[in-house]
Amino acid sequence: MADQYENLMEKIVSLSKRRGFVFPGSEIYGGLANSYEYGPLGVELKKNIQDEWWNAFVRRRSDMVGLDSSIILHPKVWEASGHVAGFSDAMIDCKNCKTRTRADHLVEDYLEEHGTDPAKYRIPDVFDPAGSGFSGREEIETIVKSGKVEGLKEQQFDSLIQWFKVPCPTCGKFDWTPVRKFNLLFETHIGIVPEAQSKAYLRGETAQGIFVSFKNIVDSSRVTLPFGVGQLGKSFRNEITKGNFIFRTLEFEQGEIEYFFDPEADDWQKLFEEWKKSLWDFVTGDLRIRTENLRWREHGDEERSFYSKRTEDLEYRFPFGFKELWGLAYRTDYDLTQHQKYSGLDLSYQDPATGKRIVPHVIEPAVGINRLMAMVLLDAYAEEGDRVVLKLPPRIAPYKAAVFPLLRNKEELVGKAREVYEGLRKKFLVAWDDRGNIGKRYYAQDEIGTPYCITIDFDTLEKGDVTVRDRDTAAQERIKIEDLEDFITKKLS
Ligand code: ATP
Repeated sequence: MADQYENLMEKIVSLSKRRGFVFPGSEIYGGLANSYEYGPLGVELKKNIQDEWWNAFVRRRSDMVGLDSSIILHPKVWEASGHVAGFSDAMIDCKNCKTRTRADHLVEDYLEEHGTDPAKYRIPDVFDPAGSGFSGREEIETIVKSGKVEGLKEQQFDSLIQWFKVPCPTCGKFDWTPVRKFNLLFETHIGIVPEAQSKAYLRGETAQGIFVSFKNIVDSSRVTLPFGVGQLGKSFRNEITKGNFIFRTLEFEQGEIEYFFDPEADDWQKLFEEWKKSLWDFVTGDLRIRTENLRWREHGDEERSFYSKRTEDLEYRFPFGFKELWGLAYRTDYDLTQHQKYSGLDLSYQDPATGKRIVPHVIEPAVGINRLMAMVLLDAYAEEGDRVVLKLPPRIAPYKAAVFPLLRNKEELVGKAREVYEGLRKKFLVAWDDRGNIGKRYYAQDEIGTPYCITIDFDTLEKGDVTVRDRDTAAQERIKIEDLEDFITKKLS
């Protein structure tokens, strides 16, 4: 299990920096909160996860197409989508130490620490008569039991924080400002002449770009309902709360899908279940995440957006608790209808066979690739005896193999090893190491998840075969040099 190691998060953060997966953002200038740089190994791992996502959800499916829309879209897009008015977090400031915290996280962390048994809290029958909007004790008990408070109003957070006397997580004092909403969209300006500048936003999600291009996609391709559009790319959110490494960052790669369908022709509940299965299969199959660390959680009425008929999160057991990994929502025809209203254009779809016109409904699976990467690193980490191993699936491991000459000062060994290395590098990303003893080189590769280590020794020069050592079992076998490419290719399939 992910929490079988104490301080697992610290171990991953430190390994990531030491071995070149993830560095703290802008470190030479003292750092920038919630931002990171992906190092030589991190960029490979992230790219491999993106490729897996793209292949599984776009290339291998005949009902999907891809898109790459702009990061800066027309500002009206974000008015239509509701982001300008409502894409905000409820924040609270500690008057004593000035820490700013997300109110939902503050209460949820408190409940996680103190337990979700309502009996513990002696909740009165009439809860907060001052008008927070709570209906009474029963409602609070339901909230406490669920441990989730997303979607509550500012005054409701205020009264929960007051009632539970939640202290500041940084300084321990109880001296809060009222809860206020804070918009997450990053503002920017277009134009170089100050008077002519117009306000724009860096996209807060990739999904809106899909709705904006919906009509062009239908007009330019042969897609027919039901079909989906997938997009991978950067999104930006002004996250000011603690990020937990790359779980929550200011900018992140999203993988989003809008799956369009006619609700009269397709049963949305059936499609929803199919998508649940696809996401589960991807996470447990392609990424090989242990099922005991995963669970589905359905949003209650309070938490769910008003236009959504059903929302479920696939959650992973991070060291800081079960948290959202992947959101799956049935958004009805809300987005396309909004964009029709704001653009004044007809965005309906006409069935080529029957001529029937509808505004399609959508199911939206949305994930952060960086969050997938955090999960993959945590789930793959293992300590076995005195070695640390990242048991990454070979397909996403940064290096597919490492090549070693047994001795670095024997020219004929080094020459042969170089030949093998250069040959394989044409096909895969392969590491080279000729320092220290072989055991140390194995351990260094285990720690970065390289599935196979190939050693060129004196027998190689005579017989043309090499020792291949398996990362997970540490078993060794002799393989002919000319069979190496096939051997690795098979392991990647
Ligand atoms: P959260 O409640 O964790 O802030 P959210 O519900 O706002 O997430 P969505 O808007 O549904 O998230 O975004 C879809 C996915 O994008 C999330 O499931 C998550 O994997 C990812 N994501 C969202 N915000 C961030 C972020 N700041 N950094 C990294 N990934 C993110």
